[in-house]
Amino acid sequence: KSAASYVEALLASYPDFPKPDILFRDLNPVFADAVAFRAIIDDLADQHRGRFDAVAGIEARGFLLAAAVGYAANVAVLAVRKGGKLPGTVLTEEYELEYGSARLELEIGQLPAGSRVLILDDVLATGGTIAATSRLIDRAGYTLTGVGVVLELTDLHGRERLGTTAVHAIMSI
Ligand code: IMP
Repeated sequence: KSAASYVEALLASYPDFPKPDILFRDLNPVFADAVAFRAIIDDLADQHRGRFDAVAGIEARGFLLAAAVGYAANVAVLAVRKGGKLPGTVLTEEYELEYGSARLELEIGQLPAGSRVLILDDVLATGGTIAATSRLIDRAGYTLTGVGVVLELTDLHGRERLGTTAVHAIMSI
């Protein structure tokens, strides 16, 4: 079975969460199934295999993906955190969310300049989160290899905000 077929079978949808008129997609049942989890991790690692030196996971569900893909692909792992949680010298990007606004941060100097980074997150919605993360990767002096997500919500057109970046979604709805 393909990774997409596991996502399709296990994905849960919650109308009006966390606010009215939002249809929230819950991928936790995919993470909670050992075979499905392995399938999505292998899929994400294989898509850009040999073309990245590090994965950057976006807090919080992106961390689960980045840790596993980093291990599977034998590469470094970066944690892109929500504002105010990282010590030392950090880069900051403000961005708009599907619901609200937020700040993401990355510590500088963790990888050699020019390191090739693959961004990972669970869901691509409006693309604001991944666009902000790609600016952090760029400002840190790294090269963005591409983006991997488990689920893309196509009616929010997030991909269009990411320009020419290679975006791989295991499933698009
Ligand atoms: P974006 O910035 O609008 O693309 O939103 C993406 C971020 O919000 C990701 O970090 C997701 O975890 C989260 N997100 C947006 N919509 C959903 C959803 O329906 N289910 C789960 N997470 C979501």
